[in-house]
Amino acid sequence: MSSTQPAQATPRRYQLFIDGHFVEAESGKTFKSPNPATGETFAEVAEADKADVDKAVAAARKAFDGKWSKMSARDRGRLLYKLSQLIEQNAAQLAELETKDNGKPIKESTYIDLPGVVENFEYFAGWPTKIEGETIPVPGQMFNYTLREPVGVCGQIIPWNFPLLMAAWKLAPALACGNTVVLKPAEQTPVTALELAKLIQEAGFPEGVVNIIPGYGETAGAALASHPGIDKIAFTGSTEIGKLIAKSAAANLTKVSLELGGKAPNVIFADADLNAALDAAVFGICFNMGECCNSGSRLLIERSIYEDFTQGLISLIREVKVGDPLDESTQIGAIVNDEQLDKILHYIEEGQRAGASLRIGGRQLKSTAGRFVEPTIFSDVRPDMAIAREEIFGPVLSVLPFDHADDAIAIANSTAYGLSAAVWTRDLDRAFAVSRGVRAGTVWINTFMEGPAELPFGGYKQSGLGRELGRSAIEEFTDLKTIQVHFGPRTGWWVKPRS
Ligand code: NAP
Ligand code: MG
Repeated sequence: MSSTQPAQATPRRYQLFIDGHFVEAESGKTFKSPNPATGETFAEVAEADKADVDKAVAAARKAFDGKWSKMSARDRGRLLYKLSQLIEQNAAQLAELETKDNGKPIKESTYIDLPGVVENFEYFAGWPTKIEGETIPVPGQMFNYTLREPVGVCGQIIPWNFPLLMAAWKLAPALACGNTVVLKPAEQTPVTALELAKLIQEAGFPEGVVNIIPGYGETAGAALASHPGIDKIAFTGSTEIGKLIAKSAAANLTKVSLELGGKAPNVIFADADLNAALDAAVFGICFNMGECCNSGSRLLIERSIYEDFTQGLISLIREVKVGDPLDESTQIGAIVNDEQLDKILHYIEEGQRAGASLRIGGRQLKSTAGRFVEPTIFSDVRPDMAIAREEIFGPVLSVLPFDHADDAIAIANSTAYGLSAAVWTRDLDRAFAVSRGVRAGTVWINTFMEGPAELPFGGYKQSGLGRELGRSAIEEFTDLKTIQVHFGPRTGWWVKPRS
């Protein structure tokens, strides 16, 4: 492992972004965001709590009722496009900050996260002028049409695994539809959302349209999710907290969308392009340190190639470079915090205890102050083992054999999750059968973890409610109004018209 970390720098200092201004928290409190690769404090950030949430929601309401709703769709689109350009101009710096706050490899921040952020703002910048209703014929002298209107003030709560990308997935469609937003980034990774706030200010969004309030989930997050002044709550994170969010939203009947956990089955048949499948399997578990709701954490391999494929995986995983996230050649960076590290190590122990074979990895790398884990492969995993059913959120792969397509579908469907899945085969009939049989919001055929802004994304089963990206996101962030117009003479039938 190489370590090119410079000597400790003074922590960066950030305030909340409310009503177009950077302000201290009402309580004056701050919290520290460490760099996971060094353990040093990377940023000191104002800590929002209920009073700040109240201020931010009030600012968002005022902006919604004021300037923002009067702005034309074209101008909203222009602002979003301008923001996408500002992000692109600052991409290198944002990628570096993301890597220092989150621990992910700079290669991923630079070539995956930041381009994804720009893509999302660019894509949704095209939507405001295309949000259309319908005309619907009914019998009689009636003309009926629908309007898609913004929902109002949106609360958005996002996780730490793709801090800026998740902010983009949430903000871009909400703003395109004409909503205003109060966004709470994760406590572990508040920095890039606040850097984005600077660019939102520079782009010229009216004050209060976007408010960014870092703070803890149990305080700021809970206050936001249960706030009677918000019209919609959009959440990405764990299934456990997603259920809490749904409960507090239910109390006010706030609209809610949830992107939750996953345990993606990656199904590989013997007739597949096995080199491509091997490459994707390694990427699927190592990408973002496995801290990814789409991680291909359950590899289902047809029994006839089970051992050969597993051997191939082991040789590839042996070459994966773990270490300093700022090093361009690093493929697995640092685990985000101690809690996450403990969770990963716990599952590695649990897999061994349950009788799975640990084939490679399994250890924490302790040579630096940061938190690093070897990529780990378990074979001889049974579908009922915890490592095959539960979301680990680390580079720990469970490899399971299957005998035929129906068997693969049954194993794939045997968890509570249903976010994404993949199937690798050259047989079209089989590819369609498996992709239809698997209960998941996205199924990739002969590819893995693609996620263009145009395509809907979200979960079946306990992986979520609603869809992000594409036209679906526009539907999530708008309400539908029906307008009925009568024309021609109207003969009353309730109170007879006077003659
Ligand atoms: P989490 O608790 O679900 O965090 C997601 C977001 O929800 C964060 O902004 C968090 O704030 C906030 N939050 C936490 N408690 C809340 C509450 N009571 N009310 C409102 N908001 C609340 O996830 P985590 O604890 O960071 O990670 C735990 C596990 O969740 C991971 O090991 C992984 O399995 C899963 N996870 C899944 C995804 C995904 O994309 N599906 C993403 C992240 C984590 P704070 O961070 O400030 O507490
Ligand atoms: Mg951090």
